[in-house]
Order: sequence, then structure tokens, then C-alpha cells
Amino acid sequence: MKLFSSFKGKLGKPRTNIVGRLAAVVTGQKQLDDKLLTEVEATLIQADLGVDTSLQIVEQLRERVKKNGLTSPTELPGLIRDLLLEMISPQPEEVAGSDLTIAPVHVILVVGVNGTGKTTTIGKLMKFYRDAGYSVLVGAADTFRAAATEQLAVWCERNDVPLIKSQSGADPAAVAFDTVTAALARGSQVVIIDTAGRLHTRKNLMQELEKIHRVIGKRIPGAPHEVLLVLDATTGQNALTQAGMFAAAAGVTGLVLAKLDGTARGGIAIAIHKEMQIPVRFVGLGEGIDDLAPFDPQEYVKAIFED
Ligand code: GDP
Ligand code: GDP
Ligand code: MG
Repeated sequence: MKLFSSFKGKLGKPRTNIVGRLAAVVTGQKQLDDKLLTEVEATLIQADLGVDTSLQIVEQLRERVKKNGLTSPTELPGLIRDLLLEMISPQPEEVAGSDLTIAPVHVILVVGVNGTGKTTTIGKLMKFYRDAGYSVLVGAADTFRAAATEQLAVWCERNDVPLIKSQSGADPAAVAFDTVTAALARGSQVVIIDTAGRLHTRKNLMQELEKIHRVIGKRIPGAPHEVLLVLDATTGQNALTQAGMFAAAAGVTGLVLAKLDGTARGGIAIAIHKEMQIPVRFVGLGEGIDDLAPFDPQEYVKAIFED
């Protein structure tokens, strides 16, 4: 799956917003002065780029204005793009998605707060791994709501992927156990396990996650190989806060930023990439089966600033 081929078109909102707002700020301005830079700063913060990053960028803009004698406000968007590209580290190859290094039975546990997009992301992930040539098995360990399993079953059917489930109210750890057991028996290569939404502050629910973790590891040593935390991009800076707190509590190895198509404040993807030690593995760009892309921060910045 090539990253931005399918990506750019779907970045409508974040793109028009950041570039559009910057354009609006600089258009008609004759002078690249302090007042204008202050407006640029506000625009970047409003795009959810994060206060620190926004201040850093504007500080560097000031320096460049002084040093290079920049005078034209229309140069600003391009400069900001270049500064961002310098500031963000590229994603390591193995994280970027194309060369998936995976265990013989690769178990992915998907966690997060209610409604962030976990189940939908799993639906897209099935497609992603199927397209990459792997056999996939899915486990419905969100036993809390009856509708949760049905929703997952629809995605499994669409992807022609088998689903291991239990009745509503069953112990999610038992479903997880059944799922990895079935994966071993069938020789499935990628196992994806859905879980109920929970807040990191709910101690018993976090313990439930630990139990799922433990049970999977007992069946397959080293599993789960990935714990993906799904975040809702439309919640902006809250998503970043959530990532920090959840990651510490649940052994998260990767992030998925869902609903990036639904926010005009696309800076959040850059902020999360910059602030978190855990990589953003994928971004969600819609409700469709193909609306998932591996995240590449450099490509993302380029896509956002492209004319
Ligand atoms: P869960 O509770 O975390 O499992 O969340 P769901 O997968 O059920 O998703 C909650 C809502 O968000 C649903 O209406 C999804 O269709 C929607 N959703 C999930 N991912 C995306 C996305 O990337 N873009 C958009 N626009 N909607 C999404
Ligand atoms: P409360 O009103 O704060 O007590 O919370 P709820 O009982 O409404 O639950 C909030 C959310 O936490 C639910 O939608 C579930 O996703 C999750 N949750 C609550 N209790 C359980 C539980 O026993 N098991 C699991 N897996 N999730 C739960
Ligand atoms: Mg769900």
C-alpha cells in the first residue's frame, strides 16, 4: 500500500484549513512584520500543531527574516513547510508500513476510549493485511455491547475474514484466548483483537486489558506483538493527552489516528508524532474499507502544504 496516493484527496479539511488560513493571513499583507508573525503563530496553534511547535516555528521564522532579509509575506507558507520538515523526524522504515516485519502468528490488540474508531480501524486493517498477502483472523473481545460483535462481523464478512466470538457479556480475556488458540490451529498469520472502549482512569477496565494481554502471552509467548491505541483526531489536543495517559497504562506500541478526514485541524497528527515516543502507525481518513494509510510524517507535511 503506497502511502499518499490514496491520501491527498482525502485530506480535504486539514489541507484547506492550514494552507487556506495561512494564505488568508498573508494575502494582501505588504510587510513581513511582527504583527503578521503573531497572526501566523495563532493560526498554527489553531491548527492543533501544539503551542510549543508553533512558537518554535515562529521564532525560527523571525530569525530567518532577520538573517536572510525576507520581506515577502507570501514566502511564509513555504518556509513554514520547510521548517516543519526539518523539525520532524522521519518514520523508521519498518514502522512506515510497506515492509511489515511480523511474527509467525502476529497478534495485534486494539485498544482505546469509546467511539474513537477501533472497530472501524480493524475493518480497514483486515483489508490492509489481506492485501499484503497475509491470512487474517479477528477476535471480538468487545463483549460489553451486543452490537459490537455484530459491527465487527459485518467488517469480517466484507473482508472474507473469519471471526472468533462469544456471547455478549462473556469474559473478553476468554475470547482473546479462544482467538489465539484458533489462530494457532488454523495457521493464521495476523490476528487482530477488538476490545471494548475504556478510559485509562477506570482501574478495573485497565486490569481487564492486562488480563487479556497476559492470557494471549500465555498461549503465544511474546504476544501481543502490537498494542494499537486508536485516537480520535477530531478531539484535537485531547487526543494527545489521552495518548500520553493511555500509553503509560496499557503497554501501547503504536498509535492510530482515526477521523483525520473529519478535522480541519490537521496539525494534531504532527503534534502527536512530535510529542509521543510511540509511532503513529496509521491514520484513518474516512469510514470506507480503504480509508486507512500508514503514516509518514514527512509525506503528511508535504501533502498538507502542497498547492
Ligand atoms: P469504537 O467504539 O472505537 O469501536 O469506534 P467505531 O469504530 O465504532 O467508530 C465510531 C464512529 O466513528 C463510527 O461512526 C465510524 O464510522 C466513525 N469512524 C471511524 N473511523 C473513522 C474515520 O477515519 N473517519 C471518519 N470520518 N469516521 C470514522
Ligand atoms: P459508568 O456509567 O461510568 O459506570 O460507565 P458505563 O458502565 O456506562 O461504561 C462506560 C464504558 O466503559 C462502556 O461503554 C464500556 O465500553 C466500558 N465498560 C464498562 N464496564 C465494562 C466492563 O465490565 N467490561 C468492559 N469490557 N467494558 C466496560
Ligand atoms: Mg468498537
